[in-house]
Amino acid sequence: MTTKVYICKKCATTVEKNSPPAGSGCPKGGTHTWHHPASEAYLSPKSGFKPYQCKHCGITIYTKALPSGTQGCPAGSLHSWHKL
Ligand SMILES: [Zn+2]
Ligand SMILES: [Zn+2]
Repeated sequence: MTTKVYICKKCATTVEKNSPPAGSGCPKGGTHTWHHPASEAYLSPKSGFKPYQCKHCGITIYTKALPSGTQGCPAGSLHSWHKL
């Protein structure tokens, strides 16, 4: 299993997990709306991975290359990832 970072589009919660997190209990109401911007990502530094931050929501994830997933930014419509 590959570890991914799941981001809720509604409440901006980030979870590092190798399977989709539970949907219930979103503080914004209803269920979390999870997406994962990269096929493998971490929330803390890891060898071989670089930090990328979304300039809209401020979330930083560690990936091998620029995250391809832009859908579901909590601060707007699309994440805008840049290397830190
Ligand atoms: Zn949520
Ligand atoms: Zn974002």
